[in-house]
Parts: sequence; C-alpha cells; structure tokens
Amino acid sequence: MASDLANTTIEQFTADAHKFLAANAEPRESKKAFVWGEGSDNVSMFEERSKQAEDEVVNRAKQWRQQKFDAGFGWISGPEQYGGRGLSNEFEKAYSKAEAQYKVANQSIFQIGLGMVAPTILAHASDFAREKFLRAMWRADIVACQLFSEPGAGSDLASLQTKAERDGDEWVITGQKVWTSGAHYSDIGEIICRTDPSQPKHKGLTAFLVDMKAPGVEIRPLRQMTGGASFNEVFFTEVRVPDWYRLGDENAGWGVALTTLMNERAAIGAGMGGGEVSMMTRITAMVNHYGLQNDALVRDMLANLYINYRVANFNNKRAMDKMKAGQTPGPEMSISKMALVNNQKLLNDFLAHVLGAKLQADSGEWGTYAWNQLVLGAPGMRIAGGSDEVMRNIVGERVLGLPKDVGIDSKSAFRDLKVGTQKD
Ligand SMILES: Cc1cc2nc3c(=O)[nH]c(=O)nc-3n(C[C@H](O)[C@H](O)[C@H](O)COP(=O)(O)OP(=O)(O)OC[C@H]3O[C@@H](n4cnc5c(N)ncnc54)[C@H](O)[C@@H]3O)c2cc1C
Repeated sequence: MASDLANTTIEQFTADAHKFLAANAEPRESKKAFVWGEGSDNVSMFEERSKQAEDEVVNRAKQWRQQKFDAGFGWISGPEQYGGRGLSNEFEKAYSKAEAQYKVANQSIFQIGLGMVAPTILAHASDFAREKFLRAMWRADIVACQLFSEPGAGSDLASLQTKAERDGDEWVITGQKVWTSGAHYSDIGEIICRTDPSQPKHKGLTAFLVDMKAPGVEIRPLRQMTGGASFNEVFFTEVRVPDWYRLGDENAGWGVALTTLMNERAAIGAGMGGGEVSMMTRITAMVNHYGLQNDALVRDMLANLYINYRVANFNNKRAMDKMKAGQTPGPEMSISKMALVNNQKLLNDFLAHVLGAKLQADSGEWGTYAWNQLVLGAPGMRIAGGSDEVMRNIVGERVLGLPKDVGIDSKSAFRDLKVGTQKD
C-alpha cells in the first residue's frame, strides 16, 4: 500500500510504486535483444480479435487498472474529491517510468475514455456527474466511448442531426452515430446532439453522457478491411438521459466537443506502434535478416524513416510538455497527427520495397505477411481524429497564416464556382 499522502516525497512515492509493481507484475527483460523470427510478429494497427479473445483482453485491462487504482496509482494527478490522489504531474511521470519496466495488461481500451471523455467530464460536468463517473472510469469500473460522427457529419461535425428533446428532468435522444470505436465494450458514451434546430449549426448543440446499456441503444459492428470490427454504428431510439448527464450548458455543446477533440489529437500522438518492440528495432532487424544492410536504396529509406520518426517524436513531446504545464496545445497536435500518417506512408513504402510479394500473399514466413495488417490499417489513421485535408487546413491557417478555407457553408464558396454558367 502507498505511503501516507500528506508526507509523500517523490523518492518515497517511486519506491512505493516499484514495491507495488514488483509484487504484482513481471519485470520486462529490457536487456534481451530482439531476435528476428522469435516471439510475436503481430504489428496490426487495429485489433483483430474474436469476441472471446476481446473479452479476455478487456477483463485483463480492467483487472490491472483496478489493482493499481486500489493501491493509489490509478489517478495520481486527479483531484482528490473525485477519486484522484491530488499529486503533481511529476509523480504521474515517475509512476509511468516505473510501470514501463514491467509487463502489464494492454491499456488501450481506456484511451478514448480516460484520454478524451474523462477530461471533458472534469471540465464540463455537474459535480454530481463528476462524482458518479470519474472515480468509476479511472478505476475501470466503467469504460467510455465517443459518439460524435454521424453518416452526414464527420469533418463538418456541427452538421450533426441526432436530436435531444427535453422532457421534464430528462432528455430524449433519437438518431444515429457511426465509427464509434469500442462502443461494444463501453458502459457510457459522450454524445453531441442537436437541441435547437432553429439556431445556427454550431450553436444549437448540447453534449451529454449516455448509458450505452439503456433501452433504445442498438450497437451494430462495422467490419473494416483488415478483417476485424473495432468500431460500430450506434442507433438511438428515444433513449432517455437525466438532465444531470448533460455536459456544459444547453446549446453550448460545441465548446464541450472542442475540449474532447483537442484531447483526441493528443491521444493519437506520434506513436509508431509495434507493441513491446519498437518499430525501428523490427525493421532494422528485418534489413539485417535479408542481408540488405549495404543496399544503397534500403539504407536511404531506412535513414529517412528514422529521421522523420525522431522529428515527429520531438514535436509530440513538445505538445505533451505544453499540456503537462497546463497550457492548451494548439496546431502542434495537428502537426503531430500529420507527421504520424506521413511516417506510416514512408513505412508502408519501405515494407513494400523490402518484402515485395510477401507483403501481399501469406507464405507462412515469420515477420512478412503480418505487416499486411499494419499497411491495411494505415488509411484509417489518415481519417481518424481529423482527416489529412482538415489537418492541413488547420496548419495552413493557424501556423502559416494563410487565408481561411472556404467552408462548406460559406456563400463565397459557391459564388466563385459559377455553377451552371457554362453552356456545354
Ligand atoms: C479508425 C477510426 C476511428 C474512429 N473512431 C471514432 C469514434 O470513436 N467516435 C467518433 O465519433 N468518430 C470516430 N471516427 C470518425 C472520424 O472522426 C471521421 O471519420 C472523420 O472526422 C472524418 O469524417 P467523415 O468520415 O464523415 O468524412 P468527411 O468529413 O465526409 O470527409 C470526406 C473527405 O472530404 C475531405 N474534406 C472534408 N472537409 C474538407 C475541407 N474543409 N477541406 C478539404 N477537404 C475536406 C476529407 O478530408 C475526406 O477526404 C473514427 C474514424 C476512424 C477512421
């Protein structure tokens, strides 16, 4: 058990963390070098699991989070009144560093809930909702998803049509959401609804939490081209939520959505994936395995990849430091996201060059066709969390100072098109 809160020093805290981790998790064999052909060759972007395998992953993830929460390491920098430990980010970093030395259950199912929805609840929910949900989320008693996109509203999110109508102390939600990652194992969702259709589109929106198990909620899986079904369509038919599930004021949902979206780009970040073994380690081992160390083109591609990943990583760190210092990250998040997808493109080209047909057809050889999952998953990342074009618009306007994009609703967009003026 962690030492007395009031007197916790960073040294004592770190010692407690190591004591807890040593008692409950296996240390990583950090010195063991990666050997080509040994261990798992899974590098997939999206998880491709059976229902049973997914249930096991979810249960293991929850068990670990509950264990560490109960030991005082679940929400280190969170406010005490909502279940946090009230310590500074320095303690949070110290724990993360200690935990990285141990093998613990994959925590990616909490990325949306804890990375995006929980900060929004903290910023915009009623005290009652904060008390009810935050501790439960950080202890993994409940998992949350993000219900923003609709068939007719993605980049132009403010066009959304799912409506919420007030009925006394409740709201009644009807409509459809789409691409909802993890809806099938979530207990609550953050949903943005239209509450006043007479107002301009950004103004008549309100944000709510919604119980994903409530009557009238129907979740249907969407199969992606990699084979799995990580996201869903979610249908709402007269789903009732109490008014205290509302996030922020009535018709002020756009600001609430922006809080979540800002955290989304931060959550996507500039990672490379690849599980426990870094992607650079894997591809360097692959080059050595195929005896391509002296191939000039391969060397050039590899060096280019390394440089681009390092630069993306530094940019990401800059944005994370800004957030940890309590500042609002700006276009850095868009740059990080663009760098991530550009680097994925470089990686895919590299894999196609080195592996050739082995990337396309399963020969059974270790570490070859497995990359196909990563390559097929990459286009999704060009869209998730804001598409490439939308990111470029943000950087163009906010970093380069270019004139504002002609929005879809802008009159000038149509004035300049001169639609129907040509005779043939
Ligand atoms: C892997 C993945 C996970 C996701 N998870 C979730 C989730 O959990 N919850 C959720 O709510 N949503 C989720 N989404 C949905 C995601 O937010 C939307 O797909 C995204 O916002 C784009 O919207 P859209 O698909 O409607 O495309 P559209 O907005 O219709 O865009 C179509 C095309 O038009 C381009 N375009 C649009 N506007 C402009 C413009 N102004 N200038 C230039 N080009 C433009 C786009 O770049 C794109 O190429 C997920 C998506 C993916 C791929």
